Amino acid sequence: MPHRKFGDGDVVMGRWPGSVLYYEVQITSYDDLTHLYTVKYKDGTELELKESDIKSVSAFKHRKSNSSSPSRRGGSRSRSRSPGRPARGRRRSSSQGRDAKDDKKKAIRGTKLTPEKPNENNTSRYNGEPDSTERNDTSHKILQQKVDLDLEIDRVLDQYRVRSRKEDKTKEEIYSEKRSFEAAKTIDKASAQTKELEFGGRIGTFCMIVFLPATVLYLLLMCKQEDPSIMNFPPPLPSFDSLWETRVFGVWLVWFFLQALFYLLPVGKVVEGIPLLNGRKLQYRINGFYAFALTAAAVGIFLYFELELHYLYDHFLQFAVSAIVFSVVFSIYLYIRSLKAPEENLSSGGNSGSFIYDFFTGHELNPRIGTFDLKYFCELRPSLIGWVVVNLAMLLAEMKIHNQNVPSLSMILVNSFQLLYVMDALWHEEAILTTMDITHDGFGFMLAFGDLVWVPFIFSLQAFYLVGHPNEISWLAASAIIILNMSGYYIFRCANSQKNAFRKNPKDPRLAHLKFIPTATGKSLLVSDWWGFVRHPNYLGDIIMALAWSLPCGFNHILPYFYVIYFTLFIIHREARDGRQCKKKYGLAWDRYCQRVPYRIIPYIY
Ligand code: NDP
Repeated sequence: MPHRKFGDGDVVMGRWPGSVLYYEVQITSYDDLTHLYTVKYKDGTELELKESDIKSVSAFKHRKSNSSSPSRRGGSRSRSRSPGRPARGRRRSSSQGRDAKDDKKKAIRGTKLTPEKPNENNTSRYNGEPDSTERNDTSHKILQQKVDLDLEIDRVLDQYRVRSRKEDKTKEEIYSEKRSFEAAKTIDKASAQTKELEFGGRIGTFCMIVFLPATVLYLLLMCKQEDPSIMNFPPPLPSFDSLWETRVFGVWLVWFFLQALFYLLPVGKVVEGIPLLNGRKLQYRINGFYAFALTAAAVGIFLYFELELHYLYDHFLQFAVSAIVFSVVFSIYLYIRSLKAPEENLSSGGNSGSFIYDFFTGHELNPRIGTFDLKYFCELRPSLIGWVVVNLAMLLAEMKIHNQNVPSLSMILVNSFQLLYVMDALWHEEAILTTMDITHDGFGFMLAFGDLVWVPFIFSLQAFYLVGHPNEISWLAASAIIILNMSGYYIFRCANSQKNAFRKNPKDPRLAHLKFIPTATGKSLLVSDWWGFVRHPNYLGDIIMALAWSLPCGFNHILPYFYVIYFTLFIIHREARDGRQCKKKYGLAWDRYCQRVPYRIIPYIY
């Protein structure tokens, strides 16, 4: 029987999902399997909470007593109010102007807090519940909660903004406010600690730090073999000289810093990312496509002056080793600088206190040098653009080695499919700002190695394989592979665009046909069309494309299929991680979504 801290019927303070606000709740039950408490708010709302999101009322008494100081009396600021209860009186104001502002706000609140009946359009779109009466009640309640939560957040932010005018405050007010803020920070700090370790915990992450670089070297060495059957013994480890060349490392550094220079160019729009834990939004320059165009121009000039790009093929292993060395040193730098980062900048997934685990998963969420965002830069530029350049080098190497005037059909297919994928990612660069990589994962070895080594050197495995192992394919086979790739791309693009458009503006008339489940955070979950087909239709498209990228290599060896196998496992793991995070964010609404859409990625299979 697992230990539980609180009993049924206990009155405690429960954290409101997605916020730092705590409200008085009563525990109604506890699930031994999921270790979640079901709690009831004063307005009757029921939610599931983790133990770490529940505090005893006594922990808040200190803050309550502060807030009941004469300067704070007025009642509206107590955090023990349920989100469903309307805001009452406002703080005492010292000027008429502020009174008028308060009255106006009260009026707005009064209007908004009038229970809104879900309109017809909404009710027909919302289709997450089996019973229509219950459905209306629940959606109504959730809408009401959302309105109240928005108001509560607005009220708290407003409170701090108004109160920052120190001249209006007594010493006591400033003191009590500081104590409240510190207490909130302590609570937040405790909840930002990583408690559930992923990737096999400390041992798993340690193994990955060792085995990932070894896997890259093994695959590249095998690919160079005349008979790259995995039934063969791995080739002997090459001499140090054939693994390391300082000039190659220099070329790699030039490449990396050239991309950094392109990133710094003041072209392209600047957009805001999603709010961080502290409510701050970082700004990002969207100029990946320009960087790609400039890289293409640089490569064109390179070729024009007959500088041979297949130097990259000839020294491929040395380039991979250079990238590995750089990513390890870079990860050490990232970890050291993260030790000085403010608590609020740490990643909630890489803050376990274990050196190995945090080094691997990334301790700091968005490390920046000035406005230069290191993670965002590495995610698209040296990785994706690097992948395309490597593919092109393989295409030229194939032509040179096999004395061809034109590249083989297989090589053209692999290059074009992957080029399309990269151009799509750069064209929709802004979409990366909402991905798990940017919003949740810290920047450590996992992403640094993934971006700088795994993507350019392993994603290009098919092209590398084809240079040494040409594979003739017929036009009929090529047509079938093209159809397969385009189907995967179609699913991937439609699913991503639909979700992005819905997240940007759920009221977009073009999305009026979509059904959704509202959630307590204010965001809704799509349950029809692509997102009602499987829970991650974009991943399904990804897997289909991955298969199409390997098929041009034929069936002589399994090696070029490494990418499909790895990618399928990776995406299954990613889907599970995302599911866990969505469950945390959306609670019961996510459970309802999973009931309605039972398949995760592949319909009727998984
Ligand atoms: P997604 O783009 O699928 O984003 C997942 C998020 O979408 C969830 O956290 C949730 O966030 C939201 N969401 C989930 N279900 C719904 C729903 N039913 N309705 C509305 N919103 C929903 O995942 P990734 O960040 O992993 O992937 C980003 C892109 O990168 C994808 O295009 C993916 O295909 C691609 N990718 C490519 C890889 C490669 O190596 N080639 C590897 C991994 C990803 P919220 O509710 O907070 O908005």
